[in-house]
Amino acid sequence: MKYFSKMKEIEQLIEISQFYGKDSRFVIAGGGNTSYKNQERIWVKASGSSLATITEDGFAVLDREKLNLMSVKVYSTDTTEREEQVKNDLADATITKGKRPSVETSMHNVIDYAFVVHLHPTAVNGLMCAQNAETDLMKLFGEKALYVEYTDPGYVLFKKVDDKIKAFRAKYNEEPNVIWLKNHGIFVAADTIEEIKNIYSEILSTLSESVTTNHHLTEEFPLEGGLRGVEILPAIRMMLSANVLKTIKVRNNELVKYFSESPENQRDIARPFTPDAIVYCKSNYIFLNGETPEAILEEAGKTIPVFKMQ
Ligand SMILES: [Zn+2]
Repeated sequence: MKYFSKMKEIEQLIEISQFYGKDSRFVIAGGGNTSYKNQERIWVKASGSSLATITEDGFAVLDREKLNLMSVKVYSTDTTEREEQVKNDLADATITKGKRPSVETSMHNVIDYAFVVHLHPTAVNGLMCAQNAETDLMKLFGEKALYVEYTDPGYVLFKKVDDKIKAFRAKYNEEPNVIWLKNHGIFVAADTIEEIKNIYSEILSTLSESVTTNHHLTEEFPLEGGLRGVEILPAIRMMLSANVLKTIKVRNNELVKYFSESPENQRDIARPFTPDAIVYCKSNYIFLNGETPEAILEEAGKTIPVFKMQ
């Protein structure tokens, strides 16, 4: 059964999803989700579908009456048990059985606008994953900016966002269009997709104006003199390719150079900054500090097999 064929709002939802999904300033690899809701139902990106190529098939449709009950229900205090209960309630509220709605569905549901576009754009996370995220956010976007402190994804984050939205409504007597999540990303919501596009482009231009240094990536390796990529890449590539031959690419800039210089500098980037880094690059990385091609290859030969076993 199709609930939304010929619905112009769903065509708009697909349009805006693909619009941002195809733009690497907003979506790298994956990360993020979109939704449209009316009084009774919400269409939200299902897990496993990609924004860039999404069609109506890529959305799960949920019963909002059931979702609304989840906002007031008392769940277990045990994290694992609670997330299981929440998952089951989400599945129960899903009309399009077999499609798993995003874990962020409840957040989409409580925002009182028709369209919600939640993304993890690089420029936004440059701010949201910075040490003084909140103060800098207020400086750039004013005191009214709705900022949510870091919380692990799941029901607890949803409750926190829900509380923040309620406090915002009480204080300003309006619905927030933008919600900033520390170490995570941003929600932009409005009743039309044109408004969403305007809000996102304003945000991106404010952010890019505030960036004073641009670290353009090069394919040189390293920046000056010394070791060249061609000397070690084929060997490293073989070490990383078990059954299938992998692709290996080199990227460098002043920032990479700084972090590659010493194990001390590497400590600052030993942990991932954003949720997308964890999903697409995992949480642990290898740093090779040999001075010569031979030393690097020897180190790689020892480190890579150990890393794979961890
Ligand atoms: Zn997210």
